[in-house]
Amino acid sequence: MSDVLSPGEIKLPDGRSVDFANLDIAATAPCLRSVADVVADLLPYYGSVHRGAGALSQRCTREYELARETVADTLGHGPADTVIFTRNTTDAFNLLARAVPPGTTVVTFGAEHHANLLPWRDAVRLPAPRSPEEAVEALERQLYRGKGQTLVSVTAAGNVTGEVWPVARLAEVAHRFGARIAVDAAQLAPHAAASLSGLGADYVAFSGHKLYAPFGAGVLAGRADWLEAAEPYLAGGGASAHVSDDAAVRWASGPARHEAGTPNLLGAVALATALRTLRERSFEEPEAALVRRLRAGLAALAHTEELRLFPADAQRVGIVSFAVLDRDPAAFADALGRDHGIGVRTGLFCAHPLTRRLLAEAAARKGADRAPAQAIRASIGIGTTVEHVDRLLAALR
Ligand code: PMP
Repeated sequence: MSDVLSPGEIKLPDGRSVDFANLDIAATAPCLRSVADVVADLLPYYGSVHRGAGALSQRCTREYELARETVADTLGHGPADTVIFTRNTTDAFNLLARAVPPGTTVVTFGAEHHANLLPWRDAVRLPAPRSPEEAVEALERQLYRGKGQTLVSVTAAGNVTGEVWPVARLAEVAHRFGARIAVDAAQLAPHAAASLSGLGADYVAFSGHKLYAPFGAGVLAGRADWLEAAEPYLAGGGASAHVSDDAAVRWASGPARHEAGTPNLLGAVALATALRTLRERSFEEPEAALVRRLRAGLAALAHTEELRLFPADAQRVGIVSFAVLDRDPAAFADALGRDHGIGVRTGLFCAHPLTRRLLAEAAARKGADRAPAQAIRASIGIGTTVEHVDRLLAALR
């Protein structure tokens, strides 16, 4: 039995029934069976969190706070850290951007997903590096020149290329210069949950729906001090410790300060369950074998070229984006879905500047006159089979 829930077989126009090949897992992942079971078991007891005195509320409050502890344990957190449940990674970075003290310099790279690009309007944006080493050197040069309080905000694994960034080394550099570092682990966490505690980051953000826990929760976790000092991200009940008759407010401390409104109990419990499952059972090896198979197959085709920022042998999670040079990418992806039962993603993947640049480079490597306007991304995770990868390659052929 598969570890994730799937729709089973679908019918193709030619009459064949095939197992749907979900190669769009990096956008949003199917639900882990362990997650669905835990959520189903909790549903009969579903009640308010932090609000009621009855047995249901007590149980739900306990489950919610246990979920927080699981996230903190997975990240290897200490007493100076906090875990805030958000909606997703985008929400987490917007919260962090509001909490950064005035005057802080934010440093990012020009290869970030929009979630870690757009919240930082005034950031120092270092050029997208061409190797992990270049990233470390560029940060070192920047921090050597820089002054004052600094936050570095980087991805742990890119959503366009799947390339893994040298976060532990970047964290070491940041800390050597007295800076803090925030890490976008949206794409790393689903493939390497067990490694999250080794990142050395001050803040980590990720999304439940990419972690096989599609119940609408995400996480911002890290050092509590800036978050404790910041105005609440959302004003409302739960975030307020006391409100006077004229609506003057004393805000709550702790995670509640940034979790106004009714908490997403099922989201938090699902996310924590997924982290536990992914920590206990590694899926990394089979995924890496499928990525190697897909890349080798793509490299053998005349009209496709993979996108990459780092050298070809750089470490990757289960993501491979490529240019198709002689077809309209959107029509091509539609045909993959309709005629072959394969789900991929097309577009610029919420990383427009980077994807446009990598498409142009891929087209140039193939000697094409013009770069396609969109890339195709195939992403691999739990539930992906050799047959799915081979079906995509056969369809491309
Ligand atoms: N960062 C990366 C690297 C991502 O891949 C994504 C999702 N595509 C995000 C951030 C944003 O995640 P969400 O849509 O869950 O907020």
